[in-house]
Amino acid sequence: MSAPNKSYDPVEVETLKPEEIERMRDEALAAFAAADSLDALHEAKVAHTGPTSPLALANREIGALPPHAKADAGKRVGQARGAVTKGLAARQAELEAERDARVLVEEAVDVTLPYDRVPAGARHPLTTLSERIEDIFVAMGYEVAEGPQVEAEWFNFDALNIGPDHPARGEHDTFFVQTASNGGSAAGKGGTDSGLVLRTHTSPVQIRSLLDRELPVYVICPGRVYRTDELDATHTPVFHQVELLAIDEGLTMADLKGTLDHMVQSLFGEGMKTRLRPNFFPFTEPSAEMDMLCYVCKGASVGNPDRPCRTCSSEGWIELGGCGMVNPRVLVACGVDPEKYSGFAFGFGIERMLMFRHNVEDMRDMVEGDVRFTRPFGMEI
Ligand SMILES: [Zn+2]
Repeated sequence: MSAPNKSYDPVEVETLKPEEIERMRDEALAAFAAADSLDALHEAKVAHTGPTSPLALANREIGALPPHAKADAGKRVGQARGAVTKGLAARQAELEAERDARVLVEEAVDVTLPYDRVPAGARHPLTTLSERIEDIFVAMGYEVAEGPQVEAEWFNFDALNIGPDHPARGEHDTFFVQTASNGGSAAGKGGTDSGLVLRTHTSPVQIRSLLDRELPVYVICPGRVYRTDELDATHTPVFHQVELLAIDEGLTMADLKGTLDHMVQSLFGEGMKTRLRPNFFPFTEPSAEMDMLCYVCKGASVGNPDRPCRTCSSEGWIELGGCGMVNPRVLVACGVDPEKYSGFAFGFGIERMLMFRHNVEDMRDMVEGDVRFTRPFGMEI
C-alpha cells in the first residue's frame, strides 16, 4: 500500500491541468461566439455551463485533490467559469439586441397609413338630385306634394283630359293592376276591371293637389313612375319625374318661362336659359317642349366642327321635358273656374337629368344598387 499522496500535483490530474481548463474555457467562449441565435446560444449554454459540462465535471474533481492543491485548482476553475459566465452574458446581450433591431424592422408599423375604418356612405344621386330640385322650388314658396304609386285610372288619365279613347292613353305603356277581387279579367284593350294602374307619370299628383288644397296652388311633385319598358342603357320600367303645378289668378306663359329659366340657372349656373318649342299634351294648352341651353358648350359647338360637344351632340340645346298652360278642361275636372284661374305645369325625368348633368351613360347603373356607383356622388349633388 502506497503512502498518502502528499506530493500529489494537480497538474497531473488530466482535467485540472491549466491548459486543459483554458481549452474548456476557450471552447465554451468559441461556442457562444458561434451561436447565431438565442436558441443556439441556449444549447451552447447547456453544453458548457450545465451540470454535465466539462468545467462542471472538472470542478467536481477538485474535491478529490489534497488540501494544498485544492485552492490553486479551485481558483483556476473558478476563473474559467467566471469568464465563461461573462462571455455567455455578453453574447446573450448581443443576440438580444440583434433580435430587437430585427423585430423593429420586420414588424414596423407605418402609423401614417390610413387605418381600416368603415367607409363613409353616400346617398343615391337620384334622391339628392330630386331634393336639390325640390329645394329650388320650396325657396320660391312651393310645397312638395306626394301621391300614391298605385293610382286610379281616373287620376292618371281621365282627369288629365286623356279619355278612354284618347290616343295618348295607348302611348303610355301602362302597367294595369290586377286585384284579387277582379280576378284579373281583362277589360278592353290591356285594362282590368280594377280601375287601378301603376302611375305612368306624376301628373295625377297635380289633380290630387288641386282637389285637396285651397287656391292658389303652388306644388312640386317628385316621385317614382312606371312604364312597361325593358331595362336597357336608356330605358327603365321604373323611373322618377318631377312635376310642377302653379294655379293662380293671372298666370301666363311668361311666368312659366321665367320659372324655367330660374330653375336651370339654379341647377346649372348663371347665364343659363330655356327655349320653348310648340308641342301637344292633352293636359296643357298651349303645350311646349322645353330645351335648356347646353351647359357645357353654351351653344358654341353649333356649326363649329372644330369644337364638337358630346353633351348636346353639337346642337347647342338639351331637351329637358314638357310644359304648358294647364288645359281649362283639367281645371274644370278639378272644380276650378277657368275664367278666373289659370296656371302652368311642367315635368321632366330625373334619370335623364342625372345622365347629362353627371355624364352617367348607362341607366342600369342607377337601378343596380352598386355602392361603387353612388359613392362618388357623396351626400350632396
Ligand atoms: Zn353642348
